[in-house]
Amino acid sequence: MEKCRARIRQARRVALKVGSQVLLDKNGRVDPAVFSRIALAAAGLIGQGKELVIVSSGAIASGRAALSREKGLLTLPEKQAVASLGQPILMRNWGRAFSEHQILVGQALLTHDDFSQRQRYLHSRNTLEQMLKLKILPIINENDAVAVEEIKFGDNDLLAALVAVMLKADLLVILSVAPGLCDLDPLIHPEAKVIPIVRELSRNLYECAGSGKSETGSGGMESKLRAAEIAGAAGILTFIGSGKEPGVLEKLMDGKILGTLILPDKQKLSGLKHWLLFAGKAKGELRIDQGAVKALKEQKKSLLPSGVLEVKGKFLAGELVRVVDEQGKELAKGLVNYGASDLKRIKGMRTDRIQEILGSKDYDEVIHRDNLAVSGRDKV
Ligand code: GLU
Repeated sequence: MEKCRARIRQARRVALKVGSQVLLDKNGRVDPAVFSRIALAAAGLIGQGKELVIVSSGAIASGRAALSREKGLLTLPEKQAVASLGQPILMRNWGRAFSEHQILVGQALLTHDDFSQRQRYLHSRNTLEQMLKLKILPIINENDAVAVEEIKFGDNDLLAALVAVMLKADLLVILSVAPGLCDLDPLIHPEAKVIPIVRELSRNLYECAGSGKSETGSGGMESKLRAAEIAGAAGILTFIGSGKEPGVLEKLMDGKILGTLILPDKQKLSGLKHWLLFAGKAKGELRIDQGAVKALKEQKKSLLPSGVLEVKGKFLAGELVRVVDEQGKELAKGLVNYGASDLKRIKGMRTDRIQEILGSKDYDEVIHRDNLAVSGRDKV
């Protein structure tokens, strides 16, 4: 634990995610006092020379409150319109709260494509880095007003994790209304206790996290664990705690863990493998047989045409696909050497038949090991 405390204290760059419900009062209205409280803590971190980025939810919740439509389901276009109203309300509140500490804030609205497309990824990263250099505190949210289902993150836990990885943060802090990860689903078991430290994320933990979701947030504890998994695979420490708990951030930086700390994987994934697994968007799917599953998982081999049972989706050579087992469970993602139409012709064949069937053979492998990332352990 002492080592973890030192790691937290020494964190140079911190990504802080604030959930929608944290920012609301009990009547569902935006609570300016919460913005002030978080800004005070954040200003303390910045004052210690740390760099900070904030991923702030609450655009839809603030918009709903302003429209007096706190209850009831919204359609996607309604959510988008409501977010367009709420996002400036959020920024006004952050701007006011940070101006008390002479800290300038800037808004960055991102979509999934800003992570899945290399060019956009680099541009977004450059912008955020430049903001930090100019001492403009980035306040990031999903660009809800334009994000439709295909390009949506859906929840800001995932966005925050990818931002933390993009900016090589040392620590990801996720503040919601939950006190941390509990040993039982707290919505069903009021006696549930917070687990202070998680050394390894297992399926068990995902199960005990339940799918408990707050009324306005869209993530729930499961998506926070997923965020910790994504951050952890890049060597980043994650803290999950309650943003309603006064001083939670100050105490954390002081080594007092009022929530759950999730340690990163000992072995970091390379940038490419991390991108393949967590940020890249698959264009298609390959279902493979048991022999090929074993070759990929246990023998760390490449995927050959002989192991491919089925090819789904439209993709070209060089694009990203999911690799699933016979039951459809995802086990890896990778960049293919052959497009979907060629693959349909050579699936199930031995490599020495590729030339004869396609008229040429550039590669033996459907996916070379170097361009393949196998999903970790038994996580969901
Ligand atoms: N981007 C959404 C908003 O600002 C929040 C998504 C989430 O709850 O994680 O309203």
